[in-house]
Amino acid sequence: MRFKFVPSFVVCLTLTGTVQAESFEFRVKHDHTLGSCEGKLIAGDREIRYEAADGKHSQSWAYIDIQKLDVASPTRLVLKTFQSRSWKKFERDKVFDFSVAEGKLTPEHQEFFRAKLSRPMVTRLVEKADRSSTLLPVRHRHRLGGCEGQLSVEEDRLIYLTDHASDNRVWKLREIETIGSPDPYHLRVTTYNETFTFDLKSPLDSKTYDFLWKKIYRLENARASEAEDQGTR
Ligand SMILES: [Zn+2]
Ligand SMILES: [Zn+2]
Repeated sequence: MRFKFVPSFVVCLTLTGTVQAESFEFRVKHDHTLGSCEGKLIAGDREIRYEAADGKHSQSWAYIDIQKLDVASPTRLVLKTFQSRSWKKFERDKVFDFSVAEGKLTPEHQEFFRAKLSRPMVTRLVEKADRSSTLLPVRHRHRLGGCEGQLSVEEDRLIYLTDHASDNRVWKLREIETIGSPDPYHLRVTTYNETFTFDLKSPLDSKTYDFLWKKIYRLENARASEAEDQGTR
């Protein structure tokens, strides 16, 4: 018995060790409304820290104090805090806009942030979809017109991939608040941060929708009951 327990304990320790020890940094530009300053942005275990070369705008934000983090592109990170710009007026929340001066943010960095943050973030960096996933050709509706792309339904994620890069999204199914489909040609996805409405180019089959529905509304044993449904049909 003893031999059985020891190896799994070691594996556990190594895994948490590597995840927690990880941190990374980038040379960045902090964009002001007018001009910018330069420095280093360090994503650590507990906080994101900005070290400005001139020291002026150096500061750090614990992950818990970040209202919204948006990996806007591989070279842009937007950090919204809970601080107001001025406590005297009801002003907008303080936002820090960083451009990456060297290197690129990857989906791995994005996942790193997602794991650290306590609130859902906006994740626009998309890796290639799983081969096994269900692909739905769609149009994402904008106020005027829209962008075309593909929704890919994975076991735990819903991915929207389009040439309109700023609309790319990787949603964890558990982070989606609601979905809706009034008919097989429309799908609405609402997260804590935003709502996306899609026109489907081909009808959404009820199996895919049921799968999403069960996952998003956290029905226990979604897979098991799905198998049961199929058995009784
Ligand atoms: Zn600055
Ligand atoms: Zn779009």
